[in-house]
Amino acid sequence: MTGSVRPSSARHVFYRKLDRELPTIVRAEGVYLYDDAGRRYLDACGGAMVACIGHGVPEIAAAMAEQARAVDYVNGTAFTNLAAERLADFLATKTPAGVDRAYFLCSGSEAVEAALKLARQYHVERGEPERRVIIARSPGYHGNTLLALSASARDHYRALYAPWLVDVRMIAAPYPYRSESVSSAAMTGDALEAAIGEIGPKNIAAFIAEPIGGSSTGASLPPPGYYARIREICDRHGVLFVADEILTGAGRTGTYFALEHFRDARGAAIVPDIITLGKGLNGGYAPLSALIARRSIVDVIAAGRYGGLMHAQTYSHHPVACAAALAVQQYIERHELVARARVLGERLHLRLRSLAADGDGAELVGDVRGIGMLAAVELVADRATKRPFQRELKVAEALVMRAQERGLILWPNVGHADGRNGDLVMVAPPFTISPEQIDELAESLRSSLADAAARMHARPGSR
Ligand code: PLP
Repeated sequence: MTGSVRPSSARHVFYRKLDRELPTIVRAEGVYLYDDAGRRYLDACGGAMVACIGHGVPEIAAAMAEQARAVDYVNGTAFTNLAAERLADFLATKTPAGVDRAYFLCSGSEAVEAALKLARQYHVERGEPERRVIIARSPGYHGNTLLALSASARDHYRALYAPWLVDVRMIAAPYPYRSESVSSAAMTGDALEAAIGEIGPKNIAAFIAEPIGGSSTGASLPPPGYYARIREICDRHGVLFVADEILTGAGRTGTYFALEHFRDARGAAIVPDIITLGKGLNGGYAPLSALIARRSIVDVIAAGRYGGLMHAQTYSHHPVACAAALAVQQYIERHELVARARVLGERLHLRLRSLAADGDGAELVGDVRGIGMLAAVELVADRATKRPFQRELKVAEALVMRAQERGLILWPNVGHADGRNGDLVMVAPPFTISPEQIDELAESLRSSLADAAARMHARPGSR
């Protein structure tokens, strides 16, 4: 694969995937990563849909160093710090009115855990302790810690830990490409009403959803009226709506929040009760996530019997991580990168859609979809019937490996078609990618698809 890979047997660090040797990245600049053998990779998925302003921006490093020199760490139970204050002030200029109380953590999973705990505590403090059930969607992903995993429909992550997971009620996610196999109730939002009816409204704490699908449904957009219906149902039943914008937030889809793409019948914005943010908040420069809650929710907690949110972590509101995220957000603002993600996203989608039209490997492409700098290519065994490949063939993984050999980094996802089968790759480059680099990305993906198709055809019984 590369000239200089230290075998895993000689390393003292271990990574999640233990069945492969990993190249060592020694430099990252713009949309490119460089390994210690001098090989260049185009980071077409921003790591895990994280890098949004590109790698190696000197002013972010400078802001982090300055903060580390001024105040490296204080604990949030004893002190506030200016970086956290300023970042929260900034976010309050982006969120809907009234949703402006930010709590900072490190990972997306932690923000989801804390958001769901906040929802539960809010109901308990208001005298409705029976509200404990969380409703989430399948496919859907909200993280890997146990509560976040409980709310995630990822069978291959869940199976081993099933005895430890809490009971989260799953409803079908809207999935337009596979609408024939998804109920119409899933597409309209009526599935939520039905689930609430079965469980009993007074038992439900929160509904959590990714406003636009992340890797789970591969950048799927629900029908236009979906979130208006969700908001109306949640309001009627006193259920809190948590918009998980960990992957989509901070501009990825061409608006600051993905939920901004949807409006109610009168053209008004859909306002969630709690928003979670992560990846694009920090752009990869420091681990930082946030939950942003309605002020009225935090007011209830403040007046409640516990004296605050019952979720503490040593590194919450970390000054250096907050300074990094603030510098990233200011960079996005100054360079108008959200608008850039929207405009250049159109070129990205045009180029990716052409992959389905011609070239060796086009026959693998069932669908190309997404918005802004978030795209997915869904791979199928039969384009007419949308039949997925059998999981054993590991088609998405094979494509990602072929692409990496060509110096193109993609993100695979599997299992979305029926819980087991289904292959797609995510394309989510930094918003700073140039038009020429978009063309380079698309051509490299076309060649990788051709490589993957050639290998597939060489395998007997592969389709
Ligand atoms: N929520 C969504 C929508 C995500 O896409 C992810 C990660 O991919 C998470 C939560 C969990 O974030 P993390 O991996 O930082 O814990």
